[in-house]
Amino acid sequence: MNRIGTHYTASSAGELKGPGRVVFHEALTLTGSEISINELPAGATIPFVHRHKRNEEVYIILEGHGRFHVDGDEFEVGEGTVVRVDPAGARCLKAGDQDAMRYICVQTEAKSLVQFTENDGVALESKPTWLT
Ligand code: ZN
Repeated sequence: MNRIGTHYTASSAGELKGPGRVVFHEALTLTGSEISINELPAGATIPFVHRHKRNEEVYIILEGHGRFHVDGDEFEVGEGTVVRVDPAGARCLKAGDQDAMRYICVQTEAKSLVQFTENDGVALESKPTWLT
């Protein structure tokens, strides 16, 4: 399902459970971020350490557990753990040996956010059909 309006793009990635990586940059024509949903099978690792040129990354662990490596620091992560990594952080991620680990990764340009939530949202008078 793809739906494109004047001010939005909606897409379905289908079933999100299962090994691999689903990226939303193209499907949603994202302009300020890259978002992916990822699953590492039990015991699997990202096969390289990497850093970014401009983007920070936020990893949101949805399910399972594993180990996170940043600049030589290693620590346990699991459902509910949220990790932000500066562009320069040398990072890698591994799922635990017992179960797959599912996570969302959001990339945005570091230091680009100048306002958010209450400072950026503007309440409007228009209403959807379910609000009367
Ligand atoms: Zn990355």
